[in-house]
Amino acid sequence: MAVKRVPLIAGNWKMNFDHEQAIAFVQKLAWTLKDANHDYDEKGSEVAVFPPFTDLRPVQNLIWSDKLELVYGAQDLSEHDSGAYTGEISGQFLSALHCTYVLVGHSERRTMHNETDEILARKVAAALRHGLVPVLCVGETADDLEQHGPSAVPVAQLRAALADVTGTPDLVIAYEPVWAIGSGLAATPEQAEQVASALRSTLAELLGQEVADATRILYGGSVKSSNIASLMREPNIDGALVGGASLDVTEFASIARFQ
Ligand code: PGA
Repeated sequence: MAVKRVPLIAGNWKMNFDHEQAIAFVQKLAWTLKDANHDYDEKGSEVAVFPPFTDLRPVQNLIWSDKLELVYGAQDLSEHDSGAYTGEISGQFLSALHCTYVLVGHSERRTMHNETDEILARKVAAALRHGLVPVLCVGETADDLEQHGPSAVPVAQLRAALADVTGTPDLVIAYEPVWAIGSGLAATPEQAEQVASALRSTLAELLGQEVADATRILYGGSVKSSNIASLMREPNIDGALVGGASLDVTEFASIARFQ
């Protein structure tokens, strides 16, 4: 039986836009999406932004005060809840700002901040503990792809991150091949679908068919308005995690409409 999942188009701003630029961007994005013949409403997709921590409060204020149809999340969280962890941000604080989502295990965090599978399993648990939906990022490097084929590393990362998760958690998985991030070279829809399908089967094995059917699997890595439509036609791809192209309002709004 085909299961309907609400598509999610998510913009990962990375370390771009201070809080004033963030406000201007979100205002423009909301206008652009509204003006576009309501295409995006009809498709019923959810559009999310992932600003830097310092932008979250102003972005929340704007979205709430103007009742914008956008949601937001953070780019990372601490595995701890509070205490002597200088520079860390707790899931509790993100939850107090009504973040819907939080990215966990983006490849830049895995490589530049040495986030291991064990740390990420604890971050997934911290997100769920605070009522945040983790957007768990998994993906293979070019070397992994050559040595192990397309699905082995993303599937192993998924298993490790969900090692302690039980029940029916609200999760999003983002399949982001590291070789595709920021390279301009996106995976083909067939490549992305092959891994997304393997990830969904693994979810079914770990958490049951119901969770596997309900969980959205995004593709990320050089997503643009020119390749989103073909990616979205694949049955196991439920949206996109967009980096560079999410910083351009017109481009990101086109992606959100799958045009
Ligand atoms: P990109 O980044 O769209 O610039 O390739 C994707 C990501 O890092 O999430």
